[in-house]
Amino acid sequence: MKSLVGAVLVKSVYALPTWSRTARLITEHAALRDVLGAAPSVDACYRFARKLREHEKLLTACIESVLAALREAKPEMGKTVAIDGSDMPAFANGHRYLYKNGPLRTRFADPDAGWGHRSAISTRKGGAFFGYKLHLAICADTELPLAWTVKAANEPEQGEVPGLLDTLAGRGFAPGVCVMDKGYDGQPMHDECESRGIRPVIALKETPAVKAGKHKPPACEHGTWAFAGADAKRGASKWRCPTGECLPASVWIKADRLHPLIPHGTDRWKALYRQRTAVERGFGRLKTDWGLTPLRVRRLPRVTLHANLTILAQLASALAATRDT
Ligand SMILES: [Zn+2]
Repeated sequence: MKSLVGAVLVKSVYALPTWSRTARLITEHAALRDVLGAAPSVDACYRFARKLREHEKLLTACIESVLAALREAKPEMGKTVAIDGSDMPAFANGHRYLYKNGPLRTRFADPDAGWGHRSAISTRKGGAFFGYKLHLAICADTELPLAWTVKAANEPEQGEVPGLLDTLAGRGFAPGVCVMDKGYDGQPMHDECESRGIRPVIALKETPAVKAGKHKPPACEHGTWAFAGADAKRGASKWRCPTGECLPASVWIKADRLHPLIPHGTDRWKALYRQRTAVERGFGRLKTDWGLTPLRVRRLPRVTLHANLTILAQLASALAATRDT
């Protein structure tokens, strides 16, 4: 058991794509073999992976106990979260047929994967891809994953947010703020956050209302009205005439997507939105440092297990770091 759990950690720590390379590394590496107590065979690794898929609840309980220990060590964890989805291209090429009008593909096919869209990052263009998406709620301060799901890439990202927020609460995190890009913008998403007592910080889509400037603060002949605080119980924000000459000199605006309780355009909103980059860095780290991609497994249960084990290794390593100091 110790050597198999160790193999799981070795696979992520060394960002190895397959169990066979993991088993080989342990066999060839005397120091690793000594720490793990044995060198598990490739077959043993595959059998262990299958057992982990069959007992997903036990693995989830393990992840949750690591998260609970981390929260104890880092009380700021989970106060501000950022949510986003990131591409995990399938270990399959996305074409159903071997060639045009040809037979159905059987090798390199993954019937659970789907076609999705990814946005551009610094190193490559955006565009269509075939595979899965990791939907992740990350702590903006520690940049550690707190809740996640793996879905086919064609599933809508917004649909994952309520479940992620519920998982956060179930894991004892009580975020005050949730930061998301404009792909998540919409009244339902605003309400999903507010109904859980979480302030949404979501970039606005260029909808007709935004084009018409309806998200802007009120204004009068004396100038643009100033934000004068929000009342979460009342579900509204207060705005004041800059000179106080108007009657009434202040108004309450009911919170909605256009006028959230942390208003668009305020310094606080901008500072919080900048923390969204935490989720980008989080994805980058999982992919490059921990071997989340490239995928070398097919089908949703295997891809999900791979994501769970990769993230567990990262969390376990972060926990070990808190105990070293
Ligand atoms: Zn005025």
